[in-house]
Amino acid sequence: MNKTCAIVLAAGKGKRMKSNINKQFIKINDMPILAHTLNVFNKSKYIDKIILVAAEDEISYCKEKIICKYNFNNVVSIVKGGKERQNSVYNGLKAVKNCNIVLIHDGARPFISDDIIKKGIEFARIYGAAACGVMPKDTIKIKDTNGFSKSSLNRENLFIVQTPQCFKYDLIRKCHEKLIDKKVKVTDDTSVLEIFNYKTYLYDGDYSNIKITTPEDLIIAKEILKESKQKIY
Ligand code: C5P
Repeated sequence: MNKTCAIVLAAGKGKRMKSNINKQFIKINDMPILAHTLNVFNKSKYIDKIILVAAEDEISYCKEKIICKYNFNNVVSIVKGGKERQNSVYNGLKAVKNCNIVLIHDGARPFISDDIIKKGIEFARIYGAAACGVMPKDTIKIKDTNGFSKSSLNRENLFIVQTPQCFKYDLIRKCHEKLIDKKVKVTDDTSVLEIFNYKTYLYDGDYSNIKITTPEDLIIAKEILKESKQKIY
């Protein structure tokens, strides 16, 4: 059972985009952001199956307008998301069948490369958990409750974590199961492991692997796409 499954998350509301449609359905180059993301995983020879997590009332849209339309035949199931990102991840994990490595990826990050996918899988096989990311370009401050600067963090020790985050399936499933009782909110999956004292190997991602979150990210995304060698339908 040496199989790999990508869980692609698209059940968020994307409020920071201030758009009336789910940000993942906004088109860049005439194709929804989510379709760009799924396209990379669907083409990848390192991925055996894809599970898409979508909001309950958007499942049929995803089926018809994205999966069928672009013929993403490696998407084996679409499951409904939860209230928080971690609930969506857990629903995705419960739908995984016969895979020993899972990659968890934000649907809003369309510029993932096959090389980053490959490295994540390799490192997860060795270390149990691996996540890509980049060093911050800016200086990061801690501020006090009155809005004044308190201290500065050493940039050399900081890492902006991206997705995909790759794990041995049994490990991440067990940690997410235990997280339910903890009642804490996390914003990524390496944080779930940290709570239970497991380490994640951090490797170089790419500055172009942005998460499209706010309106200005769309401008950047269009420029990245122009430069990218990805095949566009
Ligand atoms: O909110 P944030 O930008 O961190 O979301 C990252 C990814 O997680 C997005 O692709 C979003 O659709 C997904 N998400 C989800 N279910 C939620 C919240 C976020 O699938 N409840």
